[in-house]
Amino acid sequence: MTVHGLKARWVFPIAGEPLRDGVVWIEGDRIAAIGEGGRAAGARDLGDVAILPGLVNAHAHLELGGFSQPIGRPGIPFVEWLHGVTASRHSGGYDAVDAVRRGLAESGAAGVAALAEIAQPGWPEQLFRQAADRSSATARIDATVFLELIGPTAERAAEALRLAERHIDQGQRAGSWRPALSPHAPYSVRAQLVEGACRLSAERRFPVAMHLAESREELQLLETGTGPLREFLENLGAWTAGADRRRRPLDYLEMLAAADRALVVHGNYLARDEIAFLADRRETMAVVYCPRTHAWFQHTAYPLEAMLASGVRVALGTDSRASSPNLNLLEDVRCAIQRHPSVPKSKILELATLGGAWALGLEAELGTLEPGKRARLAIVPLDWALL
Ligand SMILES: [Zn+2]
Repeated sequence: MTVHGLKARWVFPIAGEPLRDGVVWIEGDRIAAIGEGGRAAGARDLGDVAILPGLVNAHAHLELGGFSQPIGRPGIPFVEWLHGVTASRHSGGYDAVDAVRRGLAESGAAGVAALAEIAQPGWPEQLFRQAADRSSATARIDATVFLELIGPTAERAAEALRLAERHIDQGQRAGSWRPALSPHAPYSVRAQLVEGACRLSAERRFPVAMHLAESREELQLLETGTGPLREFLENLGAWTAGADRRRRPLDYLEMLAAADRALVVHGNYLARDEIAFLADRRETMAVVYCPRTHAWFQHTAYPLEAMLASGVRVALGTDSRASSPNLNLLEDVRCAIQRHPSVPKSKILELATLGGAWALGLEAELGTLEPGKRARLAIVPLDWALL
C-alpha cells in the first residue's frame, strides 16, 4: 500500500505538542507516522492551514436542525424554549429528514469525523449509512445513533425498552453506524427505563447518554415535584403523580454508572459531590459540555474548571440548531476558550477530539494523530489553529 504525506503550517497531534510545518503520513486509511517539516520530501503541501484530528461532536440532534436561528432569545427560560421546540417541530411542513441531510453535510464540512446523534424513532438510517460510506478521509462521518427513549408511564417505558432492543440489534447488524440509547431526561423517563437501558448497555456493550442537571427547573421538579416543568408535562399529559422519579441528579448518575459507557449531557448544575462521583468513575463516564447552547440559555457559569481539576472526563457537543447558531464544533471550542480563560486552549481542543472519542468508546481509533489510528483529519484555516 502506498504511503502519502500531507504537510501543513501546523499539525496538532493532541497526543503531543503542535508541530510547525508538520507532516501526517497516511497508509491506506491509517496514520503511518507524524513528522517534522524537515523530512517532508514527497508530502503534499497544503499551505497555511492546520491539521487536527477529526473532531468529535459528542452531542447533536441533527433532526432539530431545520431552524435558521436558535429558538427564542438569549436567556430564554428553559421551559419556554421547550414549548417553542415542540410547537415548531410539530408544525406542518417541518422536514426532519432534510434537516438531518443538511446537518451531516455541515458537520463533514466543519471537520467532524464522529458524531453522537440523538434520534427519534423513524430516523433516516439511509443518510447515516451514506455518510459512513464516503471514501474521503476528511468528509466521512462515523455516527453513534442514540435512540431517544421517552417513558413517563410504566406502559410507555416498557414500549420504549422494546424499541431500544430492536435499535441495538439493527445497529449491531448494520455495522455502518453504532447503536446507542438515550433515556431523554429525568423529567421524561421513569427510573426503571434508565435502569433498563443501562442494563442492556452493560450486556451488549454500547454507550448511554442522558440529559442531566441541565436546568434549574429540572432540579426543582426532582426535588419538590413542582414548578414550570411540571406544568409543561401536565399540558402534554405526561405528568404522573407519584411517578418513578428520583430526587437528585446524583441518583441518576448512580444508575448511569451501571452502563458500559455513559455520557452525562450538559451537567450545567451538577453539585460538588456529583462532580466528585463522575471523577471517581472516569473509566466509564464522561460529561458533554455544549458551550454555545449553554451561553444561549445564560445558565450560571459552567463548572468546567472544577470538573477538569477533579479529573472528570469532558467532551464537547454542539447540541442542535434550536439552541446554537450552527453545527461548527470549532466555534464551540472558541466559545469555551473565551469563557474559561484559565483552562489552556490545548486542553479545550483536546475535549473536542480525544475527549469526545473517549466518551463514545472510540479512543483507540480516533481523537489524536498517532500511528495506527484512523486517518480522519480536520483541515482548518490557521485562525483556528488555537496556538
Ligand atoms: Zn440535547
